[in-house]
Amino acid sequence: MSNGPLPIRVDPRKLAERGVRLSGETALGTMPNLCQALADEEGVVSVDLQFDVDQQGIRTITGEAHSTVNMTCQRCLESARVAVEAEFNLAIAASEEAVKNLPRSYDPLIVEGEEIELLPVIEEELILSLPYDAYHDDCSVQTSFGNAEAVADDNEKPNPFSVLAQLKANNK
Ligand SMILES: [Zn+2]
Repeated sequence: MSNGPLPIRVDPRKLAERGVRLSGETALGTMPNLCQALADEEGVVSVDLQFDVDQQGIRTITGEAHSTVNMTCQRCLESARVAVEAEFNLAIAASEEAVKNLPRSYDPLIVEGEEIELLPVIEEELILSLPYDAYHDDCSVQTSFGNAEAVADDNEKPNPFSVLAQLKANNK
């Protein structure tokens, strides 16, 4: 098990054959495409990946990566903390053609050469795990939306003029 900064480039087949586990952290700023969807680049990504060879001789990468990121709340447009977690269940394939031979239980990772950049693989999975829209759990703007709904409910009640007319009638 290797702990600490994550390697930039890895030979995933070699790691799989050695049964290497990679655990470590990387700054969110090392994942620029992920950061494009975020309010800022503050935070770290924790990664825990196990490289292995399964019973069918397929080289696999399993594990998870998680982070807490800042996304723009779509109600108040302020920054909101969002927990993101990605699960990995990858099988290494040498080509698009080889992907067809993989069991469907794996997500294919096409590695044509020997080495790949590790972070983009993690980044892509984290991007897929991002919520489509972010909201504060207790967003202050949510309250006024609540009021708006209450107003809408009022519209379904009897016309206020008819209520007024009733009051006038009672006063006579
Ligand atoms: Zn909000």
